[in-house]
Amino acid sequence: MSKVVTRFAPSPTGHLHIGGARTAIFSWLLARHFGGEFVLRIEDTDLERSRQEYTDSILASMSWLGLDWDGEPVYQSQRFDLYNKYIDQLLEEGKAYWCECTPEEVEAMRETARANGLKPKYNGRCRERGLEAGEGRVVRLKAPLIGKTVFKDLVKGTIAFDNSELDDMIIRRADGSPTYNLAVVVDDATMGVTHVLRGDDHVNNTPKQVMLYEALGLPVPEFGHVPMILGPDRQKLSKRHGAKAVIDYKQTGLLPQALVNYLVRLGWSYGDQEIFGLQELIEKFSTDNLSRSAAGFDPEKLLWINAQYIKKTPDAELAELVRPFLAESGFDGVGAAFLAVAAGMYKERARDLIELAAAMQPVLCADADLPFDEKAVEKALGEEGRGHLAALREAFAACAEFDGHAAHEVLQKYVADKGLKFKAVGPPLRVALLGAMGGPDLSAVMGLLGKERTLARLDRAVAL
Ligand code: GLU
Repeated sequence: MSKVVTRFAPSPTGHLHIGGARTAIFSWLLARHFGGEFVLRIEDTDLERSRQEYTDSILASMSWLGLDWDGEPVYQSQRFDLYNKYIDQLLEEGKAYWCECTPEEVEAMRETARANGLKPKYNGRCRERGLEAGEGRVVRLKAPLIGKTVFKDLVKGTIAFDNSELDDMIIRRADGSPTYNLAVVVDDATMGVTHVLRGDDHVNNTPKQVMLYEALGLPVPEFGHVPMILGPDRQKLSKRHGAKAVIDYKQTGLLPQALVNYLVRLGWSYGDQEIFGLQELIEKFSTDNLSRSAAGFDPEKLLWINAQYIKKTPDAELAELVRPFLAESGFDGVGAAFLAVAAGMYKERARDLIELAAAMQPVLCADADLPFDEKAVEKALGEEGRGHLAALREAFAACAEFDGHAAHEVLQKYVADKGLKFKAVGPPLRVALLGAMGGPDLSAVMGLLGKERTLARLDRAVAL
């Protein structure tokens, strides 16, 4: 196979949403799988709605997801001369023509067709008139009137359209700008794109694009149209389903690899496997396993995948990922080693970095600021509980070397000597150290806090 070149072609009229991200990921995976190229094109011909800030945001989202592109992004707004060159070629070869019908006239033709029970379309009035360029005139493709336009879709199988159903499409507007289909075909062809993967909202454009390739004598790429992502209620996905822009997922503490993993699985499968490393995805990805049916977005499943990724991220790395989220709650400048241990202690149960940051606060906050859960205090810090804490305090204070292991030994000995069950001392100790029930292993917490801070917390609880 010649070199595979795929592309992602967003319109910068909004932030990158998860549907767009998913087709970008598929295209990226296909290129990386074959050692080919993945190119980026910014479709900014709609000058009214396109904004530089959205281009910046889309590029930032792609980088965050780890979707690197080859070469510089191509901007459609800078390629009008190129589009005109191809339009001129079609005009010269008699494959396109100038048309002076006004939009109102074309609408009237459609009305007439509709009234006669025919497909509403432009009636070809200027097709054979040999008009020259002129004010207010558009250029139309002289499309074949009979036969079929057929392409083999990588996802949907063979798709055929009757040419009689299709209009002589406009390829150059009256203001001189190229239309979307013309620009995309010229771009994909000149950028050497071999495989076009995109959302199936574009499937109706594809026969028109195939006609243009044929008219221009350019090789037609492979197409694959992936079904849309729907909400859990099978309606078009929107914010009300909890779907966010990619950039917002960063703010809510998702790991980019988790989002990539989730989005890939939403529309592609490899047996029942749910979790894939990036390298593994690159190796296993094939358009053969792209799903033909629309997938439902499930925020809970996304969080579940994220939790798996948090668990398997090395502690030191996770510490740096959660650091900005801690800073937001005022926990700045925590030492890297301390933070890594703390992150490791809490990562088992966190579904995103916000949850992780919140869970870690009891070990990070100053001993004098540890908040206490009133109910837990009431339950665990009665007279008996405080008595155990006072006794344990002395035993911990007597340790020459204090670490998690030593703390564990002291605890075991205390319980054994007194003939107690661990649950007599666990809850008061937990409330003293962490302010509430629940949380990680107590010996590990004490090892992390160290002797001085452990004693300070016990003293505070005894004095409550
Ligand atoms: N710019 C189009 C969009 O954002 C994509 C066009 C294409 O992939 O061919 O929907």
